[in-house]
Amino acid sequence: MKYVIVIPDGAADEPQASLGGQTPLQAANTPEMDAVAMEGVLGRSRNVPDRFLPASDVATLSLFGYDPEVYYTGRAPLEAAAMGIPLGLDDWAIRCNLIHVDDGRLTDFTAGHISSEEGLELLHALDRVIGMPRRPGIEFHPGVSYRNLLVYRGRPFEHPFDSDTVTTPPHDKPNEPAIDHLPVGTGSEMLRELMKLGSDLVAHHPVNVARAAQGKRTANAIWLWGQGKAPSLKPFKELHGLKGAIISAVDLVRGVGQLAGWDRIDVVGATGYLDTDYAAKGRAGVEALDRYDVVCVHVEASDEASHEGRADAKVEALERIDREIVGPLRRALKQHGEGRILVSPDHATLLRTKAHDRVWVPWAMSGTGLPPSGFTYNEPAALAAGGPFHDQGFRLMDAFLGR
Ligand SMILES: [Zn+2]
Repeated sequence: MKYVIVIPDGAADEPQASLGGQTPLQAANTPEMDAVAMEGVLGRSRNVPDRFLPASDVATLSLFGYDPEVYYTGRAPLEAAAMGIPLGLDDWAIRCNLIHVDDGRLTDFTAGHISSEEGLELLHALDRVIGMPRRPGIEFHPGVSYRNLLVYRGRPFEHPFDSDTVTTPPHDKPNEPAIDHLPVGTGSEMLRELMKLGSDLVAHHPVNVARAAQGKRTANAIWLWGQGKAPSLKPFKELHGLKGAIISAVDLVRGVGQLAGWDRIDVVGATGYLDTDYAAKGRAGVEALDRYDVVCVHVEASDEASHEGRADAKVEALERIDREIVGPLRRALKQHGEGRILVSPDHATLLRTKAHDRVWVPWAMSGTGLPPSGFTYNEPAALAAGGPFHDQGFRLMDAFLGR
């Protein structure tokens, strides 16, 4: 039996006045996802337990069947895994965003979606000037676009950070004063000092001089958050006897997959943004089905549209995911005979707040052995259908796999 998982990141939302009182999932023309719900089960999950911030790290762990209460150690270590950066037992990974600050406010957590090439230059400069050898154990690692990492190589019995160390994701505080959300608790002085030094350095770097000249938003600050040590996930293969693959442009999501022992399939043209090559991801998913038992395709575009507060862009992203990814995968699955498909966002990202939310998400699954619900795929339908509700979202995986 083959299993397909499609994650439209942050797709779940509220009714929008600009969409005639409909949610983006309602407003979007998504015949493929609707067919999954109609022909199968429509339910709801809460992927983010109360004590966690609603974000893709915790939510993705839940979606992949891992209890965040047991396995979650922070966002950055998951990204380090995806970036191939080994973490020792005493090492910490910390997210280093390139951001744009205007008038002391967190104006843009993506620094105008700075390119990976520009980011690489800035991160190399940070590493050269602020990292080793000046500060032993401090390493800056370039990632994708604004998503980069700081690694702190610790010594045995050293506790540079603790459970009282609080850092804040910049995307959760759009336009708020940066000073209100600086790190606090154990190790916060070090983090604040690195943020100050790093921000001063990147603000005047030639990369930003050039961006300013082109009228683009500069990466005039760095923002450190999401610290954690390496988690150890029980391999998915050991738990379920199935071989998995993950297709995603986002390090974090790939990292969760890789820690679960899934292979990572890179797709040329997958950007993690609205301009991603949807069809290429759909094709890669279809090809991967020949070689793997479980294939997961994650698309970030719906989440990014919400962060920008663009309802029309969110609807368009959902329609393209439906047409170019869910459609081809459903057809391929039928050719394989026995199989199931699951469509589920990781978390909700609300157009109203431009931020993630911990409310439940609607999911739909169809295929071998599943009865038809007769409902289309969206939030009000998921409530009306009265299907299964997993308050602990990680339990959905067992249901999907028929365990
Ligand atoms: Zn997001």
